[in-house]
Amino acid sequence: MRKTSSANHALETTDRRRFLKLAAVGAATAALATEAVGGPSHRLRRRAHRLARRLGMKADRVENHLIRMQEDLRRALQKPVEQRDWVMVIDPRKCIGCDSCTISCKAENVTPPGVTYRRVPKIEFGAFPNITWIFMPANCMQCDHPACATAPGVPEGAISKRPDGIVEIDYAKLRGEAARAAARACPYSALYVDDGSFYTENTPHGLQPYETRDFQEYDQEYNRTQGGLPVGSGRKCHFCLHRLNQAMLPACVTTCLGGAVFFGDRSDPQSLVSELLASHRVIRTRESLGMEPRVYYIDEPIEGRPHLSCTVCHP
Ligand code: SF4
Ligand code: SF4
Repeated sequence: MRKTSSANHALETTDRRRFLKLAAVGAATAALATEAVGGPSHRLRRRAHRLARRLGMKADRVENHLIRMQEDLRRALQKPVEQRDWVMVIDPRKCIGCDSCTISCKAENVTPPGVTYRRVPKIEFGAFPNITWIFMPANCMQCDHPACATAPGVPEGAISKRPDGIVEIDYAKLRGEAARAAARACPYSALYVDDGSFYTENTPHGLQPYETRDFQEYDQEYNRTQGGLPVGSGRKCHFCLHRLNQAMLPACVTTCLGGAVFFGDRSDPQSLVSELLASHRVIRTRESLGMEPRVYYIDEPIEGRPHLSCTVCHP
């Protein structure tokens, strides 16, 4: 009886110690996250690492990939725009097909029915009941040689390449038939035409504020009500340029439940994206077209499972 009670006590003490350890590191990490949003985080980062060391935990236990990318972003913004080299890295092995990125992108960029900057195609392998799905999140690839920009009928300057790699649309120029020509030319089906519709039109409570609000794209303010731009224009992902300029990561990156999306400056060897590109086998879809897309996919198998990826059908 006594033995059991002391064993219970030892167990409780171990659990309590473990809980306190995790709570302390958790608090330090939370403080780090808060600081990462509001200002320089290096002091808190050092403090969290010191604390982790004192508690005998590995320093990487307190690392958080969003905080790391937030710091990468701040470093990049200190450089002139022509020295930034934005890329996205996606790890399909971590994608759970939840579509949070799609929804957060819609909310961020006020996109109407028929315009989806961020899609999560689901690819099915096998036959019932042995079915496996893989998810390949996709958006505008910000191609270095974009077919949309040079399509016949697209006016000069309607789609241009920024020095940081983002492909920018001039909503006043890319309209009507020109926008449709650009959409047809994109081999990734990443460019859409805004037809002026709303999800909540003709509903009992009428248009909802989330659709009628002002929003920013390419650092300009827009409002779609009463046919205002970008209604009638070609639209696509722009890596949330307006957020980047405010030192915030793209909406799809910050809301990814699987931790499958990475973003940053490829010209910075310290950035997480540079590290991922150097340490993993990566592919870019439809690379043979020579358009130099800026979205990379990690293409490695998960141990113990068959390797399923786009390369199965498109080697
Ligand atoms: S993915 Fe399509 S829309 Fe985006 S830059 Fe390339 S060609 Fe243009
Ligand atoms: S939010 Fe992340 S995990 Fe969910 S579908 Fe998008 S990429 Fe995949």
